[in-house]
Amino acid sequence: MPDDCLFCRIVRGEIPVLLVAQNDHAVAFRDINPQAPVHVLVVPRRHVKSLAEAADASELGAIALLAAQVARQEGIEQGGYRVVMNTGADGGQSVAHLHMHLLGGRPMSWPPG
Ligand code: AMP
Repeated sequence: MPDDCLFCRIVRGEIPVLLVAQNDHAVAFRDINPQAPVHVLVVPRRHVKSLAEAADASELGAIALLAAQVARQEGIEQGGYRVVMNTGADGGQSVAHLHMHLLGGRPMSWPPG
């Protein structure tokens, strides 16, 4: 739990966010720079740098299930949505604390940029 990790600080409540949901393993809050009408980040409470370092299947499962719960809460389950885990430099990861993006509320294109 590094002192200077942005998402660790958010999990500890040191930086204000728009909280959407949480469970024992993960916290969901609105992205500060939304790329879709619904753009929520789901992060593990425990510091894990990225998916490449992840080893706890129940923690990863909790993140994915919280994203699905938020999609239901936000009313985008019916229309569909996208979840993304940018991983490492080529993956476009800018915050070194594992996170799942939940994006929805508009049609998504493929391939991503
Ligand atoms: P990534 O580029 O996949 O590492 O995603 C990091 C995300 O964190 C970006 O979409 C940012 O907009 C978002 N972000 C950065 N700072 C904050 C913050 N203080 N509160 C909420 N979201 C943030």
